[in-house]
Amino acid sequence: MKNIIFIAPPAAGKGTQSDLLKENLGYVHISTGDLLRELDKESPLGKEVNALIEAGKFVSDEIVLELLKEKLLTLTKDDHFILDGYPRNLNQAKSLDGLLKEINKSLDCVIELEVPYDTCLKRAIGREICPNCHKAYNTFFKKPKTEGICDSCGTALEHRSDDTEETFKTRFDTYVENTKPLIDYYQEQNKLVKVDGVNDTYEKIVGVVK
Ligand code: AMP
Repeated sequence: MKNIIFIAPPAAGKGTQSDLLKENLGYVHISTGDLLRELDKESPLGKEVNALIEAGKFVSDEIVLELLKEKLLTLTKDDHFILDGYPRNLNQAKSLDGLLKEINKSLDCVIELEVPYDTCLKRAIGREICPNCHKAYNTFFKKPKTEGICDSCGTALEHRSDDTEETFKTRFDTYVENTKPLIDYYQEQNKLVKVDGVNDTYEKIVGVVK
């Protein structure tokens, strides 16, 4: 199994695909967005981070790197990882190279999920997540049986505060602006694989990572 990175626009389905790979193949899923959202929102750092997330802006490279390092250090020799949401710019990609060298892990494959803007927008504004079991739903594509309630555990579903149309646009623009150099960086290393993020995505990804 390969260690992988997902690069994709916001709400393209990185989290969904990561969950499937984690469940079926035993991957360790590391999402820097999740690590940032898990910070105590009442702490000074949590407040600073939350304000940036709500505005659709990047959190500083230093803060994200610190959280990522802590998480990567928990990996065992046999663990395979998926990085979801990191790196998001060239500076982060270079930091990651250094970190992986430190912990003796390789980065084997970078998967770029190709999803049109309008699909991402709908996936974002319709997204609902269970705060208890983390199952994801969508009011357009994957409704729960009872509106607003998790099918699996009955908890009231939540909507991410940055999944509004306005914030989505900022997040998408930020992605476009910062990602191109990353794509080139990994293409030059022959690690980049483009995958259709709309049809049979999971099957295609399994074909790449196994
Ligand atoms: P995500 O869950 O990947 O959509 O990330 C949600 C938000 O967390 C992003 O819009 C950023 O504000 C922040 N974030 C997540 N990962 C990073 C990163 N690698 N660098 C900077 N900010 C990040």
